[in-house]
Amino acid sequence: MKKTATQKRVKASQGAPDKAGDSSGNSSGTTPARHRSRKAPPGKKTSGNKGSKASGKQTSRKAAPAANLLRNKRAGGKKKVTARRGRCSRLSPAAIEEIFARFRADTPEPKSELHYSNPYTLLVAVALSAQATDAGVNKATRELFKRVDTPEKMLELGEDALREQIKTIGLFRNKARNAIAMSRMLVEDYGGQVPDDREALERLPGVGRKTANVVLNVAFGEPTIAVDTHLFRVANRTGLAPGKDPLGVELCLLKVVPQDYLLHAHHWLILHGRYTCVARKPKCPVCIISDLCKFKDKTKPT
Ligand code: SF4
Repeated sequence: MKKTATQKRVKASQGAPDKAGDSSGNSSGTTPARHRSRKAPPGKKTSGNKGSKASGKQTSRKAAPAANLLRNKRAGGKKKVTARRGRCSRLSPAAIEEIFARFRADTPEPKSELHYSNPYTLLVAVALSAQATDAGVNKATRELFKRVDTPEKMLELGEDALREQIKTIGLFRNKARNAIAMSRMLVEDYGGQVPDDREALERLPGVGRKTANVVLNVAFGEPTIAVDTHLFRVANRTGLAPGKDPLGVELCLLKVVPQDYLLHAHHWLILHGRYTCVARKPKCPVCIISDLCKFKDKTKPT
């Protein structure tokens, strides 16, 4: 692979060997669906789409507007969410920029691997995916979403029938109960629409910060980062955003990921963790960011 000027600069500044391979093993994708139909109901505060679009722009070393993004509050609205002080990342700004430049070159338009047709089915699919694989959720929702793609239809289906439809997914009883309660709240409080507002989303039964982040990012184009087990692992191994808990990692990422990459950072990092930086035996010899990664126990070519 021919090195870019930035790659050479990063390598020189770190004195690290260039182990970059040709492939990450990630799947290619298309533009994440953005459904801009929704607003929160009257009287509800909305965050709105700030118009960020990662693809097709020149890269920038300008840091993310973390101060703005970190003013969100936890569900319940009592504890203010702020990034920890001091340096978040073990990587230099140039190395971070290079990592995301490579991710973007490899997969320009990453997308969610969950199947959905609108913000509501996305919300349901993400809520069902807790402690389950995307493939398992897709299998269960394939038939479900043919019949049910609105909260009203979900209420018509009912909890017993929903439970039967999703019984192959872990925690299906609780998830069915929450999906019905969530649908009822959407109908009664939001006119049957999914709100594009974090606080409103996190009020819905079964919806936490991670699910809200995914919906805001994928359905509404917000530059949020949902930290799942894959992303948490990648952030810590690479030194990009080390942290002891998902919230700490998320806040650190919001602080260090360059603005131009924020919209897709979530998917790039998840895909990297899912297919390359896998849990048991990371595929370091073919990893496209191996020369920038700080992980001490990189695997060797066999
Ligand atoms: S641990 Fe290995 S696979 Fe994971 S990011 Fe680092 S070099 Fe890549």
